[in-house]
Amino acid sequence: MILGIIGAGQLAQMLALAANPLGIEVLCLAQDPEVPAAPVAQLFQCAPNDAEALQYFAEAVDVVTYENENIDANILQLIEPITPVYPSIKALRITQDRLLEKQLFSKLNIPAAPTSNVTSEEELNAAVKEHGYPAILKTRRFGYDGKGQYLLRNNKDITLAWAELGGKESKLILEGFVKFNTEVSIIAVRDQNGVCKFYPLCENCHSEGILRYTTIPVAKKDLQKTAEKYAQQIMEHLDYVGTIAIEFFVTSKGLIANEIAPRVHNSGHWTIEGAYTSQFENHIRALFNFPLGLTDLVAPCAMVNMISNLAKREEILDIQGAHYYTYGKHARQNRKLGHVTIVPSNNDKLKKAIELCSAHIRSV
Ligand code: AMP
Repeated sequence: MILGIIGAGQLAQMLALAANPLGIEVLCLAQDPEVPAAPVAQLFQCAPNDAEALQYFAEAVDVVTYENENIDANILQLIEPITPVYPSIKALRITQDRLLEKQLFSKLNIPAAPTSNVTSEEELNAAVKEHGYPAILKTRRFGYDGKGQYLLRNNKDITLAWAELGGKESKLILEGFVKFNTEVSIIAVRDQNGVCKFYPLCENCHSEGILRYTTIPVAKKDLQKTAEKYAQQIMEHLDYVGTIAIEFFVTSKGLIANEIAPRVHNSGHWTIEGAYTSQFENHIRALFNFPLGLTDLVAPCAMVNMISNLAKREEILDIQGAHYYTYGKHARQNRKLGHVTIVPSNNDKLKKAIELCSAHIRSV
């Protein structure tokens, strides 16, 4: 059996590492040969707009998935008549567009930040009047790790924000600012028969729009049920197959949905050691119609991203319960180069281990 993945970054790398023990080979579609998945998967090198090559790719594999929602849905349209694609094209189209995503939340009565569609500076002015300051102007597509966003604090920012984002991309939204206490995400998985499983909520700490670290479980236990209910509604509406991640703000009024990732997610990397079945393995189980694995927590744990720099491997491995992952990427400012998961033998050691690990990463 062969799994085809569109993309060959670190998520494809970890999917391939989960697929191999199940007897599944992996073929990654990529243009560049120097990619994180290259050491653990076969590469199918072609340009993303090469329709004939895409047809060969589809014929060479049994099922196709993707590791990034910022792909052209037309690629999937070419592949789908030949080979099943999960998650579906419908799921991709909605989750790659912040406006459609917000409309989905509203349709399902899931609370989300107040949002306006913005296609001109006039509409931006009107939206700011409606939502007040602060507010965030975001591109509808291609935003990640805080890119494609502009925080507006006062009237002077309108022209600056429009110059920064509106000039390049006129499909934007303005979001009212959500005053949140913490940010959490739920990783869930749905199989081809509609069976859903949910991982424990993860608490996520971001800075400059980039996920820095995740801890599990979250302090507020009462949020789990609501998050599961929302995730189930979304997956059922999209007839979803595979692993999904939904990010929320935690406010005094409860959960406010932020965004959906139709794929395995950075805030779920801890599941490799911290859950009975990882998000990667469960994604593959769903795609190949195998029974889903247990999503329970093995022990309280954490994941710390290595951004811009990699910490020294030996220093991290000296922390008991720590596991080191490097993606084989060239260092660049604000680029995710690897991560560390920490599953210590007892809860008291977790906080210390996170501090130590973060200090090693900062010291590079
Ligand atoms: P996003 O790419 O939409 O996930 O945004 C990246 C980060 O920016 C989030 O994790 C939040 O920390 C922050 N953020 C995004 N949207 C809002 C909002 N409407 N209100 C407050 N903070 C936000």
